[in-house]
Amino acid sequence: MSELPDMKDLEKLKSRPKMAWELLSEEERKQVASFAQEYIDFLNAAKTEREAVREILKQAKEQGFQDLSSSSAQASRKFYQLNRGKSIALCSLGKEDICQGIRIIISHIDSPRLDLKPNPLYEDQELALLRTHYYGGIKKYQWVALPLALHGVVVRSDGSKIEFCLGENPNDPVFTISDLLPHLSGRIMDEKKLKEAIEGEKLTILFGHEPIAGQTEDKERIKLNILSLLHERYGIVEEDFISAEIEAVPAWPARLVGLDQSIVGGYGQDDRICAYASLRAIFAQTEPPRYPSMVLFMDKEETGSEGNTGAQSCFVELVVSQLLQKSGLEPKEHLVRDLLFRSKALSADVNAALDPNYPDVFEKQNACRLGFGVNLSKYIGSRGKYATNDASAEYIGDIRRLFNEHGVVWQAKELGKVDEGGGGSIAKFLAKYGLDMIDCGPPILSMHSPFEIASTVDLYETFKAYRVFLEKS
Ligand code: MN
Ligand code: MN
Repeated sequence: MSELPDMKDLEKLKSRPKMAWELLSEEERKQVASFAQEYIDFLNAAKTEREAVREILKQAKEQGFQDLSSSSAQASRKFYQLNRGKSIALCSLGKEDICQGIRIIISHIDSPRLDLKPNPLYEDQELALLRTHYYGGIKKYQWVALPLALHGVVVRSDGSKIEFCLGENPNDPVFTISDLLPHLSGRIMDEKKLKEAIEGEKLTILFGHEPIAGQTEDKERIKLNILSLLHERYGIVEEDFISAEIEAVPAWPARLVGLDQSIVGGYGQDDRICAYASLRAIFAQTEPPRYPSMVLFMDKEETGSEGNTGAQSCFVELVVSQLLQKSGLEPKEHLVRDLLFRSKALSADVNAALDPNYPDVFEKQNACRLGFGVNLSKYIGSRGKYATNDASAEYIGDIRRLFNEHGVVWQAKELGKVDEGGGGSIAKFLAKYGLDMIDCGPPILSMHSPFEIASTVDLYETFKAYRVFLEKS
């Protein structure tokens, strides 16, 4: 009779995920907490893509990064390249010949919000209002009856640019969109489908109420008063709204959530949590990595990565060309292509955490859970893996080994049930260069809402993951 197998050996065959917390020392738990606080400061300084670029640039300069376009930066090995103030790349040259390929982390710094229309201002019922056109995938009911701040730029007729941010300082006024009282909303709202209850055209922002002082023939006295205030404070006229980008975002700050302060709540964590983790990962390099690092912070992901600041633009090729030049090589097209083909990348983006209130849209065995570390998504897409990068088993094998060797806590899950829906990411736009690519980021709850939720320990594991990817892969 053959011997029965040892049960202890058999039990080792099963994968037994542990919460990241359980694997941390007391000291590491402190690091998680302080990292989260620094992240919260970043979120509060960077509520729009422009502000994120400004903050990243400021910190990069403090870390000694130099302008990649500047010829005087020749002696440096750490560079930044801006793209119209809305996307930015940070790079560091490595020990290996650049032609061996680079390590790329690409995240996005735009988030769903309400943009002002080109002709936003009007008056109705003795109120001044601003018309909006939402940006990205929002649930419209989440954007009414909350304090909003206005962030953006206005280019005046003489070409001068005004930057402004109203509603963040405690002394600032805030703005809001009115919602209908429950007493009257029964027929026109409550009985409708949630997505139809509030129409896009009804997302108009309350902007003022006081009529202009003095005599005037103009019937729009409230609007006139607003225009007078805008002119007095910013020197702008109504037509200037046309050459403006003004974004309404939640006016509240990001902050810790939970009695144990283990969670970050705040607007724009999709995808600034990955942006911040990758920023800190490149800053953490104390010596040149083996392969050059490139950390990209892109705009326009939420609307399909289109446009000259999105991941479908040729920004990446431009930065690679410039890096070749800095390495003393002529940036010939075939060199750029060859370099990208040999490169490895992470698409740094969030995934959906299993929501205890709505477990039915998830397939639990393959759903991310808060606290179980950074997630690897082989694919995202939807309904039959359409429109997605699908990372190879070989590449996932490499990344998995890398994370295990360096103590990164990770999970590898999908976004929702097969037929329930899905999403997209930047991964496929870079994968077209033939490089190895996988989606990698923390899970979050309440994604695309004005108050997104992330675990502080997942944030920290994400930072660790990005750091080892840049330095050790
Ligand atoms: Mn995202
Ligand atoms: Mn998103």
